[in-house]
Amino acid sequence: MNKITRRDFLRSISKSAAATCGGVALAGCRPGTNPGGAPSVHTRKNYEWRMVTTWPPHFPVMGEGADSLAQWIEKMSDGRLKIRVYGGGELVPPLQAFDAVTQGVAQMGHGASYYWAGKAPAAQFFAAVPFGMNAQQMNSWLYSAGGLELWEELYSAFDLIPFPVGNSGVQMGGWFNKEVNGISDIKGLKMRIPGLGGKVIAKAGGAAILSAGGEIFTNLERGVIDATEWVGPYHDYLMGFHKIAKYYYYPGWHEPGTVIEMFVNKTAYDALPADLQEIIRAAAYRSNLSMLSEFEAKNNVYLQKLITDHNVKLKRFPDDVLKSFKQYSDEVIQEVIATDPMSRRVYQSFKSFRKRLSDWSKISEEAYYNIAGK
Ligand code: CA
Repeated sequence: MNKITRRDFLRSISKSAAATCGGVALAGCRPGTNPGGAPSVHTRKNYEWRMVTTWPPHFPVMGEGADSLAQWIEKMSDGRLKIRVYGGGELVPPLQAFDAVTQGVAQMGHGASYYWAGKAPAAQFFAAVPFGMNAQQMNSWLYSAGGLELWEELYSAFDLIPFPVGNSGVQMGGWFNKEVNGISDIKGLKMRIPGLGGKVIAKAGGAAILSAGGEIFTNLERGVIDATEWVGPYHDYLMGFHKIAKYYYYPGWHEPGTVIEMFVNKTAYDALPADLQEIIRAAAYRSNLSMLSEFEAKNNVYLQKLITDHNVKLKRFPDDVLKSFKQYSDEVIQEVIATDPMSRRVYQSFKSFRKRLSDWSKISEEAYYNIAGK
């Protein structure tokens, strides 16, 4: 009989543990736990990550959303994943957040995907499409109809994973120093407006300028821009645009349900244990819901404040202006998808989902809004 050494004994235990775990992926077989269910010594590894954002530090709603994500992830992971959040410009300039996370300067970023249209034109479709879908429909497309998979495919070329982490709801059309009575009033207008909406303004003869949130007020004050869109009454009030521009236009034809994103360095994410990965995913879902809820709850309060306390002139874009915006939007989208195959795929998915949704929406949301509150 062979003598069983201590080494053989340990080897046999480890083999049997492997056999137990081999057939099915059992929760009890994760590293740090015992297949038998007995408590084990957890080999705790802590991670310290950095999140760069496109927002000024602790910026209301969006910047605070980034702060909350970091806090929830740290709490849920019992301190195993700590994330330090940097406002735009604190570690890298706001619009370099994407590159910084691709390069691993930070492991996470927070922004809106239309900021990256210059790197990947298809990214715009995951933030906002003029005359596109609202928040509820965007979430449905992303989570339940293949939108997020396409977004993941697009970002994987940059070693990133995208997560929806918020939505503005339908935005406002923007702040103008003079009235918009016809589409010719857009000619020569310098407007801060990102994404596909910006291309529409350019088509109408205006100049679309992309600038990060922190620069808009000064640019409007100094006349670098004549008009700006931002978000909605709550956020626009905090930005103070009513102190400079007089006319506040609706509806936000260009951003009917803008998705706020978090992007995570894929290499760093893949190196995390599965529970921390799931914690990030769960925090992203929570953030998506809480940000939309917060905007929706506060927008009307601040709309009234703007009108009654600050004498802001609330104006609706004339129908023929909206009609022109719609026509230019269709042209802009056709141009983008004609030159970029990934944009074509993404837009096809977007469009066919929307079409599938439309019959149902007409007899559910639309029919309901038409009778509710009347
Ligand atoms: Ca906006």
